[in-house]
Amino acid sequence: MVHVVVIGSGAGGAATAARLAHAGHRVTVLEKNAFTGGRCSLIERGGFRFDQGASLYLMPEVFEETFAAVGERIDEHIALKRCMPNYDVLFADGARVRLSSDVAELEREVAAAEARAREREAEALAGKRGAVPRAMPGVAGLHAYLAEARTHYRLSFDFALSRNYETWYEFAQPWHLVLALKLHVLDTVWRRACKFFGTEELRRAFSFQTMYMGMSPYDAPATYSLLQHAEIAGGIWYPVGGFHRVVDRLLHVASQRGATVRTNAEVARIDIDEAAGLAKGVVLADGTRIECDAVVCNADLVWAYTHLFPDSCVPPPMPTDETPARPIPRHIRRLDALRQTCSTISFYWGMRRQITELAHAHTIFLSDDYAESFDRIFDGLSLPGDPSFYVHVPSRLDPTAAPAGKDTVTILVPVGHMRHADMPGEDQDYEAMQRRAREWVISEMERRLHIVGLADLIEVEQVNNPMTWRNAFNLYKGSALGLSHDIWQVLYMRPSTRHAAYGNVFFVGE
Ligand SMILES: Cc1cc2nc3c(=O)[nH]c(=O)nc-3n(C[C@H](O)[C@H](O)[C@H](O)COP(=O)(O)OP(=O)(O)OC[C@H]3O[C@@H](n4cnc5c(N)ncnc54)[C@H](O)[C@@H]3O)c2cc1C
Repeated sequence: MVHVVVIGSGAGGAATAARLAHAGHRVTVLEKNAFTGGRCSLIERGGFRFDQGASLYLMPEVFEETFAAVGERIDEHIALKRCMPNYDVLFADGARVRLSSDVAELEREVAAAEARAREREAEALAGKRGAVPRAMPGVAGLHAYLAEARTHYRLSFDFALSRNYETWYEFAQPWHLVLALKLHVLDTVWRRACKFFGTEELRRAFSFQTMYMGMSPYDAPATYSLLQHAEIAGGIWYPVGGFHRVVDRLLHVASQRGATVRTNAEVARIDIDEAAGLAKGVVLADGTRIECDAVVCNADLVWAYTHLFPDSCVPPPMPTDETPARPIPRHIRRLDALRQTCSTISFYWGMRRQITELAHAHTIFLSDDYAESFDRIFDGLSLPGDPSFYVHVPSRLDPTAAPAGKDTVTILVPVGHMRHADMPGEDQDYEAMQRRAREWVISEMERRLHIVGLADLIEVEQVNNPMTWRNAFNLYKGSALGLSHDIWQVLYMRPSTRHAAYGNVFFVGE
């Protein structure tokens, strides 16, 4: 029987362990933390339950397929609650766009946003002779946008998301050029939103979703409007018990089929037989050696290449300053140069009372300096002066997330990733950024939602910053969503899911 070691118990590791165990292999899952789930883990404090990372359950068909592949019905493991509406997008001037799966409601939101824009324009043009207000695309723009997003979703699903391009000839098919045109890979999400929507509010409300992938709408290929299709057509859901429930049940299925799941089991290195070009086992941080026939690495790919193999080394912070002790292998330099997604400062707040001013499970607060805020995150690797943020209240849908009469609130403020592999840059003072982000979030929530004394309502608090993400889950540069999915880092151009030199080492996950 083949013995497979899975390094990490995140969503990717858990799903792979379940599939391998279901196929009859001997599986050992090794997780460095005392808890499972990685970025889908829970934080539990004072009776409050927080989703540490993922909170939006999208594309339910993918989760269904994962459980079906191991002979299980997902509804026997997970109870889902649907978010109705999906969320509110709140703007600095108090305006609101509500996004939902109800197309009639979306049409009303578009009409209302255009009416607000017309009013503002009429004020600006008052007294200017001959000035003509701009024409607005109206609901026709919405429908054209939704149709395009649906096409992006369907084509991406069939030809990208569900396929692994391991060779250039699989990838370089002439008809893929036609596909690329249909997917608008050279256009951006922002430019397409501008094509279909006439107001700044709507353009922002239908473009910020690229941040689910840790990318700016000004850089993300237009293809990623597939996310908007996913949430509008398929809905946003929430697993009762928290997002971790998905991982927990997959690990349960794996265990039922004989897999061993060990926590507090940090893998320090992968043991390699250089002559054979194969991994022969792993060595834990406490020195324990575990032999195996194959390794599936669920730890962040760039982190793994720079930490777990015989030629691993972390690129020094300032490669130009000093000659490193030993030359950095070319493949490591290349991996270090790849673009990473952003990170977050995440606040986990247990509230003394229900914050009913937050009407839904999800609310988006958008920055007034929309474009600049992305520049600060992705070019400056910093916290914007006027940051956008996302607020999640799981207890709005699932009362088990908070004690009776109270609320669990998680706030994600996107920030740049760490400047260096394992440490922040000199200009990245996370304590100071955290303080500024906290003040901003509290003042904007109070202002936009008319809440008084929000800070005093916080009973329990925990904060994650890029360094926390890096340390807790070995995320390279503290990047929340791994390597960027920009057009030059997807499909065949993304590092392979199989190790370049050792044929029995595979990568799974973000
Ligand atoms: C703040 C935030 C919000 C998000 N929101 C959403 C959302 O709303 N919806 C959504 O679908 N996705 C969301 N995501 C993304 C989602 O959480 C990730 O895509 C997913 O959880 C990644 O799973 P993974 O298995 O690839 O990696 P991980 O979850 O990182 O799992 C890797 C595991 O490996 C372990 N590990 C690492 N090194 C070692 C080692 N040496 N030895 C042993 N174990 C090791 C880690 O501890 C970890 O448990 C969010 C992510 C973040 C950070």
